[in-house]
Amino acid sequence: MNEDCIFCKIVKGEIPSTKVYEDERVIAFNDINPIAPIHILVIPKTHIDNYMELDDTDLIIHVNKIIKKIAIEKGLNKNGFRVLTNIGEDGGQAVKHLHYHILGGTKLPTR
Ligand code: AMP
Ligand code: ZN
Repeated sequence: MNEDCIFCKIVKGEIPSTKVYEDERVIAFNDINPIAPIHILVIPKTHIDNYMELDDTDLIIHVNKIIKKIAIEKGLNKNGFRVLTNIGEDGGQAVKHLHYHILGGTKLPTR
């Protein structure tokens, strides 16, 4: 856990979030500033800075499973959706705790 990390605070329940999924390894919650009708963030409960620091094979597989599960539950698999993770400054990563954006519910812009 990282004391100054807002997503670690969400994991600990110190900052409220609208959770859509939780288990022992990951949580998913609605993005506070959605850029699509469905905008969910999926994060590991342990603090990992970003995608470049992710080497836990079990966690990688688990996160992939949960992203798919949420997408299906939200009906996003019908018309498609987007999964993305920003890395570092040039990648536009504002929160330095690994998170995957699930974006959907509309035709997303291609650029
Ligand atoms: P990124 O630019 O990839 O680091 O994305 C960070 C995302 O976290 C942004 O889409 C923010 O809207 C979202 N965000 C920041 N603080 C919160 C919060 N307290 N609850 C939910 N989403 C948040
Ligand atoms: Zn963190």
